[in-house]
Amino acid sequence: MNQRAERLIASLDEAGVDLILVSNLVNVRYLTGFTGSNGLAVIGAQTQVFFTDFRYTEQAEQEVDHAFERVIVNDQGVKHAFGRLPDGKLRVGYESEHVTVAGLELMRDYCPGRVELVALKGVAEALRCVKDDDEIELIAAAARIADEAFEALLAGGLAGRTERELALALEHDMRLRGAESPSFDSIVAGGAHGALPHATPRDVRVEPGQLVMIDWGARYRGYCSDCTRTVAVGEPGPAAREAYELVLGAQQVGLEEVRAGGDCRAIDKAVRDIIYGAGHEGHYGHGLGHGVGLEIHEAPTLSARSTDTLQAASVVTVEPGVYVPGAFGIRVEDLVVVTDGDARVLTAIPKELRIVD
Ligand code: ZN
Ligand code: ZN
Repeated sequence: MNQRAERLIASLDEAGVDLILVSNLVNVRYLTGFTGSNGLAVIGAQTQVFFTDFRYTEQAEQEVDHAFERVIVNDQGVKHAFGRLPDGKLRVGYESEHVTVAGLELMRDYCPGRVELVALKGVAEALRCVKDDDEIELIAAAARIADEAFEALLAGGLAGRTERELALALEHDMRLRGAESPSFDSIVAGGAHGALPHATPRDVRVEPGQLVMIDWGARYRGYCSDCTRTVAVGEPGPAAREAYELVLGAQQVGLEEVRAGGDCRAIDKAVRDIIYGAGHEGHYGHGLGHGVGLEIHEAPTLSARSTDTLQAASVVTVEPGVYVPGAFGIRVEDLVVVTDGDARVLTAIPKELRIVD
């Protein structure tokens, strides 16, 4: 049995179930290795079965951990899953955040009377929150691809190119360097458009004197990276420079606060207080950061509403910003590995304000 499935089995007691039906494909991938689009796993101390359909017979053989029995079905996997449960009275958990109402009805249809269905939340996600060494290596590799593509983009100059062209060039270059895809839709936002934290790139040319906010990431062998840099195309002026130094200083404080045992809400507040205290209350409304792994946004969350405590080997972003409507937006985001000491920063791109062509 692989370590991840073992950790899951060890957590089932606490979750109050004997087995779990894992239907979320990201969790299926994490636990079994399967990367296809139809897969279901039933996992308990005595039962490790993986279900998929004919299209994935070969792929399941290659990818799925051989500790799992692999079963090819030509109809509802869930029907067969219930048919293969151990004997006796059982409590079987399902991933309530990922099962549709129709999916739950289907489960109820096939569920034998001796089995009690139990709605679970975040059981596999809690395991994914702490990365193993292989995962950290893949995230670091994704970050390197993203870093290299960004440097190549800046080397070509930004002025006179549209936001859409720049986003596309970045994404194209990341794929050439080995990324499967971008890890999310890239943000390239010049001037006042940068004041929208999640701006969509436009058919508008970047002009001298603008700050340009670029938020992008690569997906490499399933794992995401995430980074934001804000650069100046020519001299941006004193107000933009001052706000940039504020965000950079606040981000540095955030990085220093990130360590195992850290309270996510308190870390968010430490950074938020700096930005609000400098007169930018109302110019920074999103959370400080989020976990990154197989998904671009996963546990833990660094925000004013978070109840999470940082654990060693989590991978999180630290990304404060200042967004001044009608003027500019600034965000600086690094991707880091949480440790018992200083966070290990995976992003290698310099952060002092860069003046580019
Ligand atoms: Zn980002
Ligand atoms: Zn982010």
